[in-house]
Amino acid sequence: MRIDIMTLFPDMCNSVLGESIIGRAREAGKVEINCIDIRSYTLDKHRRVDDKPYGGGMGMIMAPQPIYDCFQSLCEEIGKKPHLIYLTPQGKTLTQEKVKELAGLDNIVLICGHYEGIDERVIEELEPEEISVGDYVLTGGELPALIVADAVSRMQPGVLSDDECFEEESHFNSLLEYPQYTHPSEWNGRRVPEILLSGHHAKIEEWRRQRSLERTLNRRPDMLEKAQLSNKDIQFLSNIKKD
Ligand code: SAM
Repeated sequence: MRIDIMTLFPDMCNSVLGESIIGRAREAGKVEINCIDIRSYTLDKHRRVDDKPYGGGMGMIMAPQPIYDCFQSLCEEIGKKPHLIYLTPQGKTLTQEKVKELAGLDNIVLICGHYEGIDERVIEELEPEEISVGDYVLTGGELPALIVADAVSRMQPGVLSDDECFEEESHFNSLLEYPQYTHPSEWNGRRVPEILLSGHHAKIEEWRRQRSLERTLNRRPDMLEKAQLSNKDIQFLSNIKKD
């Protein structure tokens, strides 16, 4: 899969995506991520990419021309119009379901806004999908783009050591993950639950499923509406509710 990030701060994106699991996946060619400087497409003789808003008001607005030309150049390079996303607090909130959908595409292009945002006409012209990372406002779209790039990259084959790594995680199946423990078996007077030391795989699996159901019920009961529950799960949840 190829991910292109259109940004005024390519070094910021590259430095984060050059580390750890995603950095190794890029090096191994499991995912291609390019951080493209929108500024290099400006036709302004002073290399400006923003200007004051028409009608007055605070802050600066990113001009349409560099964004448009940058995307056109990517379309030419890729040989088709890739799926385009504008990161904006006005978009639909990102979910694991959306991440799964994006992870199945060959190409995505992410536009990072900055300052007060981007000129509305380039949004109308390019019709990107608009995605938000939550109901709060950041200074730029770089952190949201990094979130999308990370979440989508880790779902590419071979990026994590074992696909089950993400299949059991929070949100993948509309459940929160069970609690996890590592060595030592006792720390600060707190013991790891005995069942996890037993080596009894079926019982460990059952214990984890129950903790996962319990956590989801206590912390995010809304998620249970979408979860695939067995009769045994439903029975377990109704027993907790009775208590
Ligand atoms: N004036 C805009 C508004 O009120 O909708 C907010 C602009 S924000 C300061 C600058 C840029 O940061 C946006 O263009 C967007 O790319 C990015 N951004 C900020 N918060 C975001 C969020 N919650 N999700 C996704 N992108 C966000």
